Amino acid sequence: MSTFNDVTKTCILCFKESEQVEINSTSSFGYDDLDFRPPMMARSTIFAWLEACPHCGYVAKDIFDPSCIQAVKHVDVMRKIVSSESYKKCDNINFCSDYASNFYRHHLILLKSDNTEEAFLALRNAAWVCDDMGDEENAIICRKKAIELIDRITSESFGKFDINRCPSRIIKFLYNKCIKRKGLPYAEYLDLVRLDMLRRTGDFERVTDEYSKKSYVSGMFNKALKFQLEKARLKDDSVYTFEDV
Ligand SMILES: [Zn+2]
Repeated sequence: MSTFNDVTKTCILCFKESEQVEINSTSSFGYDDLDFRPPMMARSTIFAWLEACPHCGYVAKDIFDPSCIQAVKHVDVMRKIVSSESYKKCDNINFCSDYASNFYRHHLILLKSDNTEEAFLALRNAAWVCDDMGDEENAIICRKKAIELIDRITSESFGKFDINRCPSRIIKFLYNKCIKRKGLPYAEYLDLVRLDMLRRTGDFERVTDEYSKKSYVSGMFNKALKFQLEKARLKDDSVYTFEDV
């Protein structure tokens, strides 16, 4: 089971206090989804992955952590981001859940902080919340934006997306963030997340075009790849887990 603590936090941006929830402990049983979303109970803690100040709207993993301000150079820069129409209205995306909105806003802050890797993960998290809410339209929007982000940061210097040319800082980041605890090959992990995002958005043609000739070191990943290609052939955009592979 998961346990939580209620804590009173001061916002680093407006200096007002609010009640926030911290994860005290959690565990998981079962299989990850094919985009590595963890199974229950860890899955259900997603509402506590971010803190949102109810007074000024600032969103962060820790609203009292000054490093987020430092990442945009000055507190006034962050205030400008948080007070922008783009931020407040989530670029006019009408999310069904405040949690999805907050992940989206977090991604906007991270983009301004030149932290595209974290921004990618924030979009993925927003999509996960949309999945839970049955908000298919916005889940697709978030996944498409995440794919664009990966492709843009890997193609800026290299041209067309190629996981083998993915900048090492991105691979290292994702490795430390998501993979180390699982002992998985990190470049292949990133590639598989992107593959699942493509299929879940219904872009079956790109799945076939870009993944048919690939193979991975990991036997399980090759099984997942074969499974994904078959589901794309059937034009199936459903959620699957590694148990299904
Ligand atoms: Zn605040």
